[in-house]
Amino acid sequence: MPTAESLPWKLRQARLERSIKQTELAQQLGVSQAAVSQFERGNTSALSFAKIKDAARVLGLDLLREREEAADARALMFCEHADCLANVAYSRGSKTIVRPRMTLAAAGVASHCCECGELLLDHCPNEDCAQPVAEGSFCPACGTAYVRPAAAGGNGQAGGRDVETIRELTQPRILG
Ligand SMILES: [Zn+2]
Ligand SMILES: [Zn+2]
Repeated sequence: MPTAESLPWKLRQARLERSIKQTELAQQLGVSQAAVSQFERGNTSALSFAKIKDAARVLGLDLLREREEAADARALMFCEHADCLANVAYSRGSKTIVRPRMTLAAAGVASHCCECGELLLDHCPNEDCAQPVAEGSFCPACGTAYVRPAAAGGNGQAGGRDVETIRELTQPRILG
């Protein structure tokens, strides 16, 4: 569930106030109703930033003001692709763990990975958990790995690194 005053929450409120159905909004944006529904439930990567801007225009939401208000609200986000340069794989025993390089960016706004261009995730990939992201390799709420290691072979990054190097390589980057 999105927190009150978050962008998904505001978008939903604005839509309900104007008695616009999800299907109608989806049609105007040229996206599926499921995408609108997912976005409103807090999955901010369900809509591209361009579509979010379109939705705000359709619903008469002042996104610029919203963004300014949200400027202080920042969230950690990560790239979920194991073979992305942003992420560092290492071995622990026979296990390969991937520690994502976190990005600290404006909360509720779609951000893209600086290394591969994919949308960043701002919540646990476990759908039943979906807690906000914390620093590290695993979700502290449910223990799910943020990034699942690539299949055997991968990018050959794993192994040979000490904890300090991994920490250094995965220092959060701060956007904006
Ligand atoms: Zn990436
Ligand atoms: Zn979780």
